[in-house]
Amino acid sequence: MLKASKYETVTRFDLARTIAGRGRYWTTAYSIDGLLVDTGCAYTANELVGALDGVPLTYVVNTHSHEDHIGANGPLQQERSNLDILAHPLALPILARPRERQPLHLYRRLYWGWPEPSSGKSVTHHETIESEHYRFRVIYTPGHSPDHLCLYEPDRGWLFTGDLFVGGQERALRADYDIWQIIDSLKHIARLSVNWLFPGSARVRENPKEDLNSKISYLEEFGGSVLKLYEKGRGVKSIVRALCGKPLPVELITLGHFSRRNLVLSFIRNRPEGDETSC
Ligand SMILES: [Zn+2]
Repeated sequence: MLKASKYETVTRFDLARTIAGRGRYWTTAYSIDGLLVDTGCAYTANELVGALDGVPLTYVVNTHSHEDHIGANGPLQQERSNLDILAHPLALPILARPRERQPLHLYRRLYWGWPEPSSGKSVTHHETIESEHYRFRVIYTPGHSPDHLCLYEPDRGWLFTGDLFVGGQERALRADYDIWQIIDSLKHIARLSVNWLFPGSARVRENPKEDLNSKISYLEEFGGSVLKLYEKGRGVKSIVRALCGKPLPVELITLGHFSRRNLVLSFIRNRPEGDETSC
């Protein structure tokens, strides 16, 4: 399923596999002035390629290598021989061999599927990617994944945040995320002057400073509460019970890969240096 919408000169594509007539677990791609930010999942690759028919493209930029952001890389590259796919250097081996380098859990195969391989080029932190009318600054923003980056267009105040910021308040986390790195990356982008925030899923936000700051405060306060209980000798299970509320449907769907327990564990395992408590 594909839905297109427009914000200034940015075209947003909402993309999701259709199951029983409904789109499930939407992700986004954005097309601006010959540049495409992310490419959705494998199940929506043909729809996205079709929607971009006749649209000139010079670059694809992948915000990170998760399968729901690189799904149409391969088909687009096969169709357009001059298309450059740009990503964080750590993402390139995954783009090249997604099946070998990024094993997928059952729920990920069901909702997003295996992407076809593609060949990417690396971009560096603070590098500028120029389109005809705009310039996009690359900002490395690890945490959601080690290869995550955001794109910032300073003249327009556009920020493409991939999965670093999708709104809401995390109550669960995947086992491989680093929550303290996520907080640091959020602080980095919260310092920018942003008019429009274009996330990797969820709604576009105008003047997002307050949303960003409230997410940072929520996560820091939550992390502080976790560490306080941990330092008092409470176990992870007991901390989850005290702070995380009822079990979440996502824990069942992902068979525990996305869980309240992983959120608590990341606050403990990845806590900043200087905290002497051993885990
Ligand atoms: Zn992701």
